Amino acid sequence: MPDATAWVMALAAMLAGAAIGSFIGTALVRLPEGRSVLAGRSACDACAVPIAARDLIPLVSWLMLRGQCRQCGAPIGVWQPVAEITGAVIGGASVLLAPEGLALPAMLFGWQLLLLGLVDAQHLWLPRPLTALLAASGAGLAAWHGWQEASLAPVVTAAAGGALGFVMLWGVARGYRMLRGREGMGGGDPPLLGAIGLWLGPMGAIGTVIGASLLGLAAALVMLLVRRPVAADTALPLGTLMAAAGWAIFLVAGSG
Ligand SMILES: [Zn+2]
Repeated sequence: MPDATAWVMALAAMLAGAAIGSFIGTALVRLPEGRSVLAGRSACDACAVPIAARDLIPLVSWLMLRGQCRQCGAPIGVWQPVAEITGAVIGGASVLLAPEGLALPAMLFGWQLLLLGLVDAQHLWLPRPLTALLAASGAGLAAWHGWQEASLAPVVTAAAGGALGFVMLWGVARGYRMLRGREGMGGGDPPLLGAIGLWLGPMGAIGTVIGASLLGLAAALVMLLVRRPVAADTALPLGTLMAAAGWAIFLVAGSG
């Protein structure tokens, strides 16, 4: 049972996560348009009027404004509060559930995966710079652990996970293309599993594929139950499923 300090830290991490989720919501709108995510202050995407500070409170503002711009009434996408709530949950759960000493890495991993997972869910697109950042931070964490333990083992495990993750999906994609004569997955999926493998190691990379498959199956069953048609070529966002599964594995097992 976490003590009082842990709950206070979890609350702080939830608030930070909500703010980062808010930023992720902005990035979701701007990235596909090729606009800078970091430059320029928050403004309405419809009327370009800058958003007042009082309307920038995660979730609260969205509810108060009933999901509409205060100036022009343009709808603010439902992805905005989804990103904010999930960002907050990632922060709080990292503090309360991650293995000893891995709360901060769990947040950094989770928030990056949240952005990647939501972009893939919306656009079936995994921006390479985001995947590269995920890979670099995973390699950095392994190097940090190796330096602390004066051992090469964490780096070797991470490298093996990265290589296995990439090769596994790259091989599946190639096999599918040879058998069916068309693409079965997005080109960004093998690099994403490679980046996740750098964080989780080889067992975690395999676990991510299994977990993503189970999540995909569950999603297909839910769609069947609500009588939405499921075709063989329904483009389920594999990146989104791998992001969710990979983060859950890190939360339970940590790296390596
Ligand atoms: Zn507006």
